[in-house]
Parts: sequence; structure tokens; C-alpha cells
Amino acid sequence: MGKINILGVHVDAIDMNEAVAKVKGFLENDGANAVFTPNSEIMMAAYRDEKFKDILNSAEMIIADGVGVVYASRILKRPLPERVAGFDLACRTLEEVSDGSKSVYFFGGKPGVCELAIENLKKKYPDLYVSGFSDGYFDDEKEKKIIEDIKEKKPDILFVCLGAPKQELWISKHKDELGAKVLLGVGGTLDVLAGTAKRAPVFFQKTGLEWLYRLLKQPKRIGRMLDLPKFGFTVLLKGKKFPQED
Ligand code: UDP
Repeated sequence: MGKINILGVHVDAIDMNEAVAKVKGFLENDGANAVFTPNSEIMMAAYRDEKFKDILNSAEMIIADGVGVVYASRILKRPLPERVAGFDLACRTLEEVSDGSKSVYFFGGKPGVCELAIENLKKKYPDLYVSGFSDGYFDDEKEKKIIEDIKEKKPDILFVCLGAPKQELWISKHKDELGAKVLLGVGGTLDVLAGTAKRAPVFFQKTGLEWLYRLLKQPKRIGRMLDLPKFGFTVLLKGKKFPQED
């Protein structure tokens, strides 16, 4: 399973089943493994900021969360097998450990969101082993306490849902001190699990128009969303300059 160089970010050329298998592999070994899930906006942020690009590339797995990233791979004639949405990978991972064989910790979202998400998950997976949680709004003092709590619980899987790029920066800064084996940076996943935000209907997901649904729901995202066409043009104009592995 190789990687594809998209504007300097090395995205794993894997489908959902392979991504799940990789997470399972991480769980069987020692060491911390970061999983990042960039969309077009994040890819553009990495293109603009070398340091952030290095942080993204430091992850043990990078999956194409956005359909724009999959289109980019096609432009480069290195097609990714499919879009692997961070939310879907989070759900598949939870399903894999729903027998309680591994512990999970949720970090992120507004106060109360984790509790709701866990309540919903417990209805579906009564045996799921949730070792802890914390909301994602903190000052230095609260952050210290959160870190201590995670270290104490030593979860197998830590879901970090602080939005991008905050979650990627946080994971890369702390991943080696926490004792978690897999650290997933998966944005608004907790909101959807809690039911405080809705995933786009399947029609929008299947037609690659999830971004349009999000734009209709949150028109203030328009500025950020301009990164989608900018990303496409940048890949068209500059994409070939980034060398591939083979
Ligand atoms: N969030 C958080 N702490 C912060 C900022 C955001 O926990 O300091 C959470 C927010 O509550 C939401 C998630 O991060 O659950 C994703 O936020 P947003 O929609 O702003 O980011 P996106 O993933 O769309 O880039």
C-alpha cells in the first residue's frame, strides 16, 4: 500500500477496509499512531504552511476525507481507491472495538456533547469500553488536567475532535506522552454521534456533494470553502512538481 504525494502531503492510497485493518494493526503494537483525515481546506493549509505540512506528514496514516482530495489524485493520474471519510472510519473503528476489547477516550466538542455521544453509542454498543472523555474547550490549566486524565486512563484509542488544524497540532504535540495507541483527528464526529449535528444525506455523500450540503447548512463557511476550487487549480497547475514514490 503506497502513498500519493498531493502538493507535498503523503496520502495513503487505501480504501476503507484497508484503513480499518491498519488501525487494527496499530492497536496490536506498541507506540502511538496518529491518523489524520484532511479535506481540500486542510490540504491547502498544508500547501501554504510548510510547518503544518510536516505535522500532517508525521502521521502514521493520512486518509482522504474529502472528495476534492480524491479528485486531486485523479488529476495526478494516481487515483486513490476511494474517499475514506473520517467520520466513517471513526464509526468502523468503534464497531471493531464494540465488544469492549479496547478502551476509547473522547476529547472534543462543546460541553455536554461527549456525554450525549457516549449515551447514544452505549445504546448501540452496550459493551463499548469508554475510559474517559473531555470537552474540547480549555485553558492551559484545564488542558493539563485533560492530559493527566488521558495519561492515567491510557486509552487504546483517543478520538480528538477539536476541528482542524487544532486537532492535528494538538495530536502531534502530545501523541508520545499520552499512552494511547491510536489518535484519530476526526473533527465534528462527536457532534454527529451526539446528534447535535447531522451528516449530509446519503445522496450528497454519494454524489460527492457533501461540501454543498455543509455550505447550505452553514453559509458562513463560504470563505473557507473557496479553498476547494483553489485546491483543484493548484493541483492542476503545480501538482506534477511533487515527486511520487515510484
Ligand atoms: N472544537 C473544540 N474545541 C475548539 C474548537 C472546536 O472542541 O477549540 C470542536 C467543535 O465543538 C466541533 C469540532 O471541534 O465539535 C469541529 O469544529 P468545526 O466545525 O469548527 O471544525 P471543522 O472540523 O468543520 O473544521
